Amino acid sequence: MTRHKGIPASGGIAIGKSYVFRTDLPVLGDRKVDSTADELRRLDAAIQAVAARLRELERGVNENGNSERAEILALQLEFLDDPSLVGEARRSIQEQSLNAEAALMRASDALVEEFAKVEQEYFKQRADDIRDVSVRLLRTLLGLPEASLAEVPPASVVVARSLAPSDTATMNTANTVAICTEVGSAISHTAIISRSIGIPSVVGLGGLPVNDYSQLIVDGDEGVVIVDPDEETLVRYRQRKEAWETRRNGALSRATEPAYTEDGRHVEIVANVGSPTEARRAPELGAEGIGLLRTEFLFLQRNTLPDEAEQYDVYRRIFEPFPTGPIVVRTLDVGGDKELPSLKRLPEGNPFLGLRGIRLSLSEPQVFRTQLRAILRAAVGHDVRIMFPMVATVDEFRRGREQVRVAIRELEQAGTACNASCQVGMMIEVPSAAISAFQIAEEADFFSVGTNDLTQYTLAMDRTSAFLSSQADPFDPAVLFLIERTVSAAHAAGKWVGICGEMAGDPLALPFLLGIGTDELSMVGGRIAKLKEAIRGLAARELRDVVGECLRLPSGSEVRTFLARYSEERGARS
Ligand code: PEP
Ligand code: MG
Repeated sequence: MTRHKGIPASGGIAIGKSYVFRTDLPVLGDRKVDSTADELRRLDAAIQAVAARLRELERGVNENGNSERAEILALQLEFLDDPSLVGEARRSIQEQSLNAEAALMRASDALVEEFAKVEQEYFKQRADDIRDVSVRLLRTLLGLPEASLAEVPPASVVVARSLAPSDTATMNTANTVAICTEVGSAISHTAIISRSIGIPSVVGLGGLPVNDYSQLIVDGDEGVVIVDPDEETLVRYRQRKEAWETRRNGALSRATEPAYTEDGRHVEIVANVGSPTEARRAPELGAEGIGLLRTEFLFLQRNTLPDEAEQYDVYRRIFEPFPTGPIVVRTLDVGGDKELPSLKRLPEGNPFLGLRGIRLSLSEPQVFRTQLRAILRAAVGHDVRIMFPMVATVDEFRRGREQVRVAIRELEQAGTACNASCQVGMMIEVPSAAISAFQIAEEADFFSVGTNDLTQYTLAMDRTSAFLSSQADPFDPAVLFLIERTVSAAHAAGKWVGICGEMAGDPLALPFLLGIGTDELSMVGGRIAKLKEAIRGLAARELRDVVGECLRLPSGSEVRTFLARYSEERGARS
């Protein structure tokens, strides 16, 4: 028996036999070719073959009703036309007489590097997509067979170096009980898919010494994998697995019911959404509305900006599943380290502190108002609220709000129907905004705390840095102080306040966030059932004391230890 520690990526316990998924490629070298025309033909033939295969896979998953995975494949198909990928590869063949494999790898590596640098999860997923589609093209060029997880035997634990989006798109999920990968992080594609399927997953394991059919225990809560367990360990984990399954089934069956604490306090639970597919799935996962619509997805991977009509159509599709619930639409949050190809700006020395979020929108009023008009028109008949990202000062908020007024005037003058009574609020994710929250709350209709960026900017620690991941902690007393201040400020002005950073979906943070009086928590759909269940296990009357203790403690790790102990004791009492 051996025990291996990795990163917990999707919770729960699974016991099964390993299925080792091998996708290794031979080491490829550069080669000069005699005929660039022949090489271009080889590349085009590979592109066509891969496109045909991806379309076939897309049809298959669509027929099985798996729209999320169909969407991944549709996106990959788009990369087969992408000038920065295949266009670049063609150029290297033509200009440098490179062989197609090397030309493709160069273009792919450059693009992956560019996307992977960006902090937002969306871009990291696109980096996986590019890598995936490039490996498919390479295997085709090299005449290697397709690697597939479609035929895994029942009760398999899939073990891989990493899993690409199209691997998981075709994976036999009925037969897969858990996923383990050597590389990856808690926000990698594998982790996201495992959470959406609801199976345990451990990533970042390094080498895992297994062959096919080894017995494995996967503990997705602790991030532990046990290979060839002894009988006593097996018995212990079987009991834990049964208890986990009972808890999960209970939580899922109550996911669409509202969440009240034991003593009757209601908290609105809403979803973070980044595509029409996610919006469609959110209500069945228990979302009462959308707490954060990240609109960036509409603007990326294209050389022209989406016009008002296109944006209007997409927003309508996203709002449709929510006839009554609140829908918080965040205006474009790009800039910084990610330039939109369609919006050329001068490079900045320190882009994280540069023209990001609302600052970029304010510097491009036409682009900003096009988005605002599309939102306001699509909002007719819905409770839509407009939210600005990265606001640092009351002046930025005022200027943003003025643009909303202008957009409404433009629509009314043109006789176009719009929802002129949308609330207008802002994210609190820059420390200055939290510090000035009492003044800003007089003017904003609501706040939503972006704990991801608030942590990054308060502690001056890059949220994506591998060196700082354990220290850039939202439980740090400085961050807790700013969150508490924000909630107090909103309530003093009679405004509502939500949390939409990752912390909102973390059950450990719940006693603190409820204790300070947060009105709404917004998180990825897959976390809702569990969080609602955690709310049902708390009593609001006890939480003021919990908050007091959290704010007194000197470090994030001490806050975590205290909250873990509190939750354990609370669980034992109820
Ligand atoms: C945040 O910063 O907490 C947030 C929700 O925004 P994003 O993660 O999109 O930057
Ligand atoms: Mg943010």
